[in-house]
Amino acid sequence: MPAYQRILLKFSGEVLMGRQDFGWDMHIIEQVADQVKAIQAQGVQIGLVIGGGNVFRGAQVQSTKIARSTADQMGMLATLMNGIALRDVLQSHGVQARLMSAWSMDALAETFNADAAKKALAQGDVVIFAGGSGNPFFTTDTAAALRGIEIQADVVLKATKVDGIYTRDPNKYADAQRLQTLTYEQVIQQDIAVMDLAAFALCREHAMPIRVFDMLKPGALERIIAGKDEGTLVSK
Ligand code: UDP
Repeated sequence: MPAYQRILLKFSGEVLMGRQDFGWDMHIIEQVADQVKAIQAQGVQIGLVIGGGNVFRGAQVQSTKIARSTADQMGMLATLMNGIALRDVLQSHGVQARLMSAWSMDALAETFNADAAKKALAQGDVVIFAGGSGNPFFTTDTAAALRGIEIQADVVLKATKVDGIYTRDPNKYADAQRLQTLTYEQVIQQDIAVMDLAAFALCREHAMPIRVFDMLKPGALERIIAGKDEGTLVSK
């Protein structure tokens, strides 16, 4: 039996970029698709939120002639490009995948609807939630928290470059130790940046557990689904 029945998996656009400076590394996208396929085969219902940082982030715009809110729309479109790419690769790997956009984009994706998303998940489809939250000034972390709560996921799995939360920076200190669990209060007291603040506040308010892990670490996602010690769990 998998440890989770329904998950919301969030990873940044940079994951899809691999070692490149921009865009997509097909090898990595295929790797991600294979991992998703492997846990779907175990009966896990999977919602995905992908960032857009491999293409564009709103904060990159320096011009006073493009408003930040408009730039953020460009960033949200970047997440849609990632969603289209991953949907196609998932489908080519034999996974039934659907793409839902935060705002209407009829020719490209379904418009997000929590009810339809839950029905699709319940029938085993992987659902990719693109377009972030649909609002500027937010990030895809917040979109992940929001969609996770909306689809009543058991957990938000947040993929990072480090395989969990450590007592100190593991890249600098050899004696840094990975923490298996933390409470929301400990995260606040110790000022640990698990997700951005809006996302974290949403998860805390709705008691949505967050597991931080490294998706590119071989077998990590499957270990989480098997209920093994992997990454760091932040919960009540
Ligand atoms: N974005 C937004 N609202 C959202 C989610 C994303 O405006 O709810 C925009 C914002 O400009 C952001 C960009 O989309 O910089 C890409 O998202 P994010 O930075 O979270 O991507 P990641 O860093 O995870 O790849």
